Amino acid sequence: MYVNLHSSFAKNAAAVEAAELIKSCVHCGFCNATCPTYQDLFDERDGPRGRIYLIKHLLESGGAGEATRTHLDRCLTCRSCETTCPSGVQYGRLADTGRELVEEVTDRPLAQRLIRRMVRWVFPYPKRVGLVLGLGRIFRPILPGAIRGQVPPKQSISSTARTEPTANRRMLVLGGCVQAAATPKTNDAARRVLLRLGIDLFEAPSAGCCGAVDYHLGAQKEGLMFVRRNIDAWWPEVERGVEAIVVTASGCGVMVKDYGELLKGDAEYAAKALRISELAKDLTEVLEGEDLGLLGKSASKERTAVHCPCTLSHGQQLDGSVQTILERAGVPLAATTEDHLCCGSAGTYSMLQPEISQRLLDRKLAALSVDAPEQIVTANIGCQLHLGAKSEVPVRHWIELLDTGSGGDHP
Ligand code: SF4
Ligand code: SF4
Repeated sequence: MYVNLHSSFAKNAAAVEAAELIKSCVHCGFCNATCPTYQDLFDERDGPRGRIYLIKHLLESGGAGEATRTHLDRCLTCRSCETTCPSGVQYGRLADTGRELVEEVTDRPLAQRLIRRMVRWVFPYPKRVGLVLGLGRIFRPILPGAIRGQVPPKQSISSTARTEPTANRRMLVLGGCVQAAATPKTNDAARRVLLRLGIDLFEAPSAGCCGAVDYHLGAQKEGLMFVRRNIDAWWPEVERGVEAIVVTASGCGVMVKDYGELLKGDAEYAAKALRISELAKDLTEVLEGEDLGLLGKSASKERTAVHCPCTLSHGQQLDGSVQTILERAGVPLAATTEDHLCCGSAGTYSMLQPEISQRLLDRKLAALSVDAPEQIVTANIGCQLHLGAKSEVPVRHWIELLDTGSGGDHP
């Protein structure tokens, strides 16, 4: 598809890049077959091909209306379409640029602006998330059902995050934001499991949110401020030769792996960002090369259904990696269907598009329950909380299943 870029975007680097990316789309429509929102709404504009046309129109006309904003808002950014596309269209980057430009050229209603502001004010900051969750637990009995389910029980952990390494092999871990407040057990379990494998996992004290919350809500400049802050926080350890930067939430992992691309035009940070992306590893990639026999025969024996987050399967192309590790560790896996389908969490999507999100959640839980599992595991905090809100069986991060017999309190 050729884009005749509007003169107002001629000096806008993101718009110029988007016009280039659109060129590889041959408008075949294969992507609609695996797009959750197209499958839910059956409107061409709620599928990837239709959204690409809307972005093309925006780039050519220099403007957009409410309809364009609505259909881009409804996109989960699950990137299932990227996996399906035979032409290699980088839809995720197109969607981010399209959203940023839409924010510039349209006036979002005040109520929507306030909700988005609130989300961006709370979620990137663990203390604020902790405060909101604390209030949610106090007022749980009077909260509406859908919101009540989103408030997880408080998790206690047996150790605090170390900021100094103590073993020979050293890896940084991203503390993150929502996960740090809502499910601290995840990084706690990862720390213990890796220590049994001879790897010390530690945090850089001033690192935090990966930047994805702002970046994917059309506030890209603000999102990149978080990115630069993390690079500054990690860089001294990178110079000391840290082996990897481990990310236990796949939604954050896909963002950190993208730092190099996001800052490629920043003369000061481009080289550092690229190095950070090279060092970034999902937890499955770390365990993939390790001798899991060192963990002993202590993994969970409950029949387990695995939900692979879109950010792991489509974003990081690591589909099946959780299942492989759990099988190697001796965890019995339950069968599942519709594995390509997004659960509807998608970062802040479950709050901003609750109706579509809930329909996808119901469908996903049915697909995960066909073989009557005793528990569900996943690899991303958003999916974990979203599935856990309605699931009849416990929903955990998969690393907790390997954390038995080492001080972790999982059965
Ligand atoms: S599958 Fe790829 S090339 Fe075909 S319409 Fe979708 S994005 Fe375009
Ligand atoms: S990212 Fe997901 S929801 Fe968005 S267009 Fe692609 S497949 Fe559809």
